[in-house]
Amino acid sequence: MSTEEKPSMLKGLVGKLSSGELSSRDLCEGLLRRVHQWNPTLRAILSIEEDRVMQRAEELDRRRGQGEDLGVLGGIPVGVKDNLCSRVGRTTCGSRMLENFKSPYDSHVVSRLDESGAVLFGKTNLDEFAMGGSTETSFFGASRNPWDFERTCGGSSGGSAAAVAAGLVPVSIGTDTGGSIRQPAAFCGVCGIKPTYGRVSRWGLVSYASSLDVAGVFGQSVEDLALVLGAIAGHDPRDSTCLPHSVPAYSESLTQGVRGMRIGVLREQLDSQGLDPQVRGAILGTLDVYRELGAEIVDVSLPHSKYCIATYYVIAPCEASSNLARYDGVHYGYRSSGKEAGVLDRMMEQTRSEGFGKEVQRRILLGTYALSAGYYDAYYLQALKVRRLIRQDYDEAFSKVDLLLGPTTPQGAFRLGEKLADPIQLYLQDLFTVGANLAGIPAMSIPVGSGMDASLPIGLQLQAPVLREDQLFRAGAAYHRAIAYQFRLPATLEEPRV
Ligand code: GLN
Repeated sequence: MSTEEKPSMLKGLVGKLSSGELSSRDLCEGLLRRVHQWNPTLRAILSIEEDRVMQRAEELDRRRGQGEDLGVLGGIPVGVKDNLCSRVGRTTCGSRMLENFKSPYDSHVVSRLDESGAVLFGKTNLDEFAMGGSTETSFFGASRNPWDFERTCGGSSGGSAAAVAAGLVPVSIGTDTGGSIRQPAAFCGVCGIKPTYGRVSRWGLVSYASSLDVAGVFGQSVEDLALVLGAIAGHDPRDSTCLPHSVPAYSESLTQGVRGMRIGVLREQLDSQGLDPQVRGAILGTLDVYRELGAEIVDVSLPHSKYCIATYYVIAPCEASSNLARYDGVHYGYRSSGKEAGVLDRMMEQTRSEGFGKEVQRRILLGTYALSAGYYDAYYLQALKVRRLIRQDYDEAFSKVDLLLGPTTPQGAFRLGEKLADPIQLYLQDLFTVGANLAGIPAMSIPVGSGMDASLPIGLQLQAPVLREDQLFRAGAAYHRAIAYQFRLPATLEEPRV
């Protein structure tokens, strides 16, 4: 096993930019060429304002030249999921409803990136309003998996994952309501972290299910996630659910190793019926590595995890039905010009029928039904009670172990169109990811070493107690160091030009 340290791509670029070996202008120009070459196939990035990108890069180069400290991401281009408001470009949420929506303000995450010296490089593709697990519900068409163009890149933050996997950007921002960072990270062979609920402000993040939504990071290495999360996390008084706790220096945990750490293996996940044997084998392989590194491996159980999907798919649509009521043809975006558009209620009905895609409409109907008088107690209230039990399972598990380990997804990336006709099949893909959102805890997916030899990437999911992102970084970095993991581009794509 190698313990040799290699700088991550992001860190390498940050170093070259600050030493003057590379300019942000040249970096962005190289990436734009790559976008022209690959994005028509991958459809990872929805919009990119090239002039603004170059202007910003040149401005940063100039300021650096004058001796200014630009911040931890000085000159680095970042992809941002298109449900985070930005004054630059549009904010479409992958929906016809917001096809031409220009936000008058920046989301907190975008402001933080800006203050850290990043270049907002492009807005990335997603399932419509972040509802889905394959980016196929995007009004603008599905993204493709860089490892196999016939397969999905996962979702809903599929564009952000594919952009990093294809080397179109070194890092990107996604959001995770039920797995939308971790699942596409697993499918595309990149690292992705969903932080603790409230660790990153939701100000300017277009709401899907407010009690579950959180923004997080995709990168080529665990180290890169730590750097970018450090830049976007922290208190923001504009989001009342944003946590006041100070942000630790995440990079310090990267080298601490796992000796003495207690890692819980989720048996019901490893023994679950739908688990692909190759995924199972890969995850079991990680246990050997952790044992060798001095961690103690313990079997643990989350007895209510079998109710996770049912609970999530009541709570998320309920919140969505309420959040999406604002798209009425008056406040924002699309308005039908249909025959009866002059009559208020007909105009709203037509606007919502034409502006929202099928999956979004399905969830609004589901949520409205579950919240209606007579059903509220049976569905919504019941789901909240089960959510509490799921949280208690995690509390109980974390009284015994520092971390939980399992697969991110039951299988690798599935084929485009394969599950589109059967929403239940798609919902079942979220089996291992939604628990962390229901409990509000941080979770991370990283590529499993041996999976990289398989035809498709495989993701290892680590989950930690509330606000213990440092444990995730610690264990993730230790594993990748032990297997001498190196990010590589899919064989379908050539080497990056930067
Ligand atoms: N696949 C889940 C859903 O469709 C999760 C989506 C998300 O995390 N945004 O709701």
